[in-house]
Amino acid sequence: MQRSGEEIIKIAVAVNSANQVLQMYEASKNFTNQDKILICMGHAGIYTRILAEKFGSFLTYSSALSENTTVGAPGHLDVRELSEMYRFRKITNNTKIYGIIGYPLKASVSPWFFNTIYKLENTDAVYVPFPADSITDILKLAENLDVQGLSVTVPYKEAVLSELTKMPPIVQSIGASNTMYLSPEGWVGDNTDCTGFSASLLVFLGVKNLKYKKITIVGAGGAARAVASEIHRLGGKALILNRTVHKARTLASQYNFKWGGLDNQGIETLSKYCDIIIQTTSVGMDGYEAADPLELYSFTGKEAVMDLIYTPAVTPFLKRAMTAGCRTINGYDMVIRQACLQYARFTGNEIPEKVLLQVNSMGANTWNKTQPA
Ligand code: NAP
Repeated sequence: MQRSGEEIIKIAVAVNSANQVLQMYEASKNFTNQDKILICMGHAGIYTRILAEKFGSFLTYSSALSENTTVGAPGHLDVRELSEMYRFRKITNNTKIYGIIGYPLKASVSPWFFNTIYKLENTDAVYVPFPADSITDILKLAENLDVQGLSVTVPYKEAVLSELTKMPPIVQSIGASNTMYLSPEGWVGDNTDCTGFSASLLVFLGVKNLKYKKITIVGAGGAARAVASEIHRLGGKALILNRTVHKARTLASQYNFKWGGLDNQGIETLSKYCDIIIQTTSVGMDGYEAADPLELYSFTGKEAVMDLIYTPAVTPFLKRAMTAGCRTINGYDMVIRQACLQYARFTGNEIPEKVLLQVNSMGANTWNKTQPA
């Protein structure tokens, strides 16, 4: 195509891995003096549409979407989302890039939250989703694109540790990181889930610590690690139940907690650890099976119940707890609290209170619809 002397080279390929996007990026370096359009189609390449300028593309493609229309091409963003949320027209080579890595990464409030703040503060920055099947490939790409900071979500909070050059003791002792930002030496990790979780739970319960509380943690993945560490710090006693029992045992032994499986025996022990039940698995989240990880347990209505998931706002698990009369909270308040801390790590500044109030009132309408339909 280059040899044919055509005016603009266009390559649009369907991708399903971060490595394929990386190959496209590498190839783009061969056409530096020529107008081009390079698009990686599909969910795995969604950021090539937002960061078209960074990929050296002449233009990007978008659709006018509504509830009744289907997407123009795989990975198309709604034209309003592209221009209003991501502020596509303002992205230049000087725009600082931040984002979130995870897989399948179908639903996250973070792009909306960070981009709304950048817009309100008139900051030359953009925050994009980086769905990635491989953590090494996406970090290679992030370094090429000069990404300054990343949120880390399911399933990479533990795997990311080996990619960090520096981490505070809390990340080392928990064994999970949900935040990484660039320093001259490389990626520095942190964990803002800890404080985000405990601040949200304490406000929800109206208490200052968890002394004398008997708590069940459902799950033993990256998020559960932060949850267990905070429950221990605040003086609570916990039981950890997980599908893969040895993971529950390993995590519980760190804090002298009880452990078990999501089976009848585990549920029997749960009845002695039911002041508070915290659901930390990905079961019920958008993009996963709409199931209930604790289906064997019947709520009495006396438990305080927290589900870390916020998309959907009400999971089948949380709906069952609400129906039984339990006090419930989903993960929206937690995700916003931990994102504020992430913002501070990324930029060195706090979000101004006025801006945060504005974003919170917008978010309550857009994201936190906690009443079941
Ligand atoms: P992760 O490290 O991948 O852990 C996933 C957990 O879910 C593991 O305990 C896993 O059990 C369990 N699980 C997965 N599929 C299951 C199934 N079919 N049946 C039973 N258990 C299953 O993920 P993570 O980073 O901990 O995140 C977990 C969830 O927490 C996600 O939905 C995430 O969005 C949410 N979260 C929310 C916030 C917030 O701020 N609100 C913060 C962090 C995380 P096995 O060990 O048996 O695989």
